[in-house]
Amino acid sequence: MKPLNQLVRSNIWNLAPYSCARNEYSGADATVFLDANENPFNSSLNRYPDPLQRQLKQQVSTVKNIPEANIFLGNGSDEAIDLVYRIFCQPGKDNAVAISPTYGMYKTCADINDVEYRPVLLDPGFCLNADRLLAAVDANTKLIFICSPNNPTGNSLQQSEMEKVLRSFEGLVVIDEAYSDFSQQPLFRNRLDEFPNLIVLNTMSKAWASAGIRLGMAFSSEAIIHLFNNVKYPYNVNVLAQQKAMDMLQRPQTIQRWLKIILQERETLMDAVQMLPYCKKVYPTDANFFLAQMDGADSIYQYLVNKGIIVRNRSRQPMCEDCLRITVGSPDENTTLLSALRKF
Ligand SMILES: *Cc1c(COP(=O)(O)O)cnc(C)c1O
Repeated sequence: MKPLNQLVRSNIWNLAPYSCARNEYSGADATVFLDANENPFNSSLNRYPDPLQRQLKQQVSTVKNIPEANIFLGNGSDEAIDLVYRIFCQPGKDNAVAISPTYGMYKTCADINDVEYRPVLLDPGFCLNADRLLAAVDANTKLIFICSPNNPTGNSLQQSEMEKVLRSFEGLVVIDEAYSDFSQQPLFRNRLDEFPNLIVLNTMSKAWASAGIRLGMAFSSEAIIHLFNNVKYPYNVNVLAQQKAMDMLQRPQTIQRWLKIILQERETLMDAVQMLPYCKKVYPTDANFFLAQMDGADSIYQYLVNKGIIVRNRSRQPMCEDCLRITVGSPDENTTLLSALRKF
């Protein structure tokens, strides 16, 4: 990895971060807060949240087995994706390389930040080819985006190929593990010490059943987390989201129970979809969704919409011709979907 000061934009490296009234707040001994022009009434919502979400990070640290100093919490992992561009990529000059097809926000954030985005097609079977990815890198490449299990394809990428990218690339490698709770693969978030250029993304939106609260995570070296903290909005995770996240993190048995149901349902649903006469292929998955190639995906998609059932039409994504991405729902929802599909 290049020295961090060669990878970070100079304005960010030299930034004097905004110092908010609650920056030094530790919560321990103070009882009278007259520092932030808050209203003394309407407790518990009258106070600004802890900008560094210390209490919540303690819980995340326990659940994810990552030291607090290596954790960034944001308004969804989408915030972390936007932040890596704003921290590392000089608009109009630097670029980011990513696998394709993959999660759309990597490109959208690149476009918003005026950063050139270089998608590199996966190999057949949606396999990662490290050499092909690395061939797209040049002197201005600051970031590589990898997603495993990948969205929209559902498969996990090969560990050794991901390791090769981490070892060979001099910039930052973002590995998005949004769906890792559904998979049995070893986790890159446990290998931060081995790879100083690694940023792992996690989210409360999928397995943790809390997309509505907007709570995403990035795990990385202390130095990189420090940069995230300097650039983020001071109060980027609101009080209610912090409370609800802590409530969920205290219920790991519930999450395990839901996960088990979803994984069982996934197998049943995939088998049933595979049997449909117009289904050409169901791709293997490690996530809570799967990709199904259909004869006439567009018309099936529209037929389902008319019945009030929404799946994701991915047929215009590279390598995903005629593919629908189907999320595994509740047993009732899956039954509704299947009986509609059988009548098509
Ligand atoms: C759903 C998803 C996310 C989650 O984003 P949030 O902003 O945390 O809701 C992140 N990455 C991928 C690949 C996803 O599919």
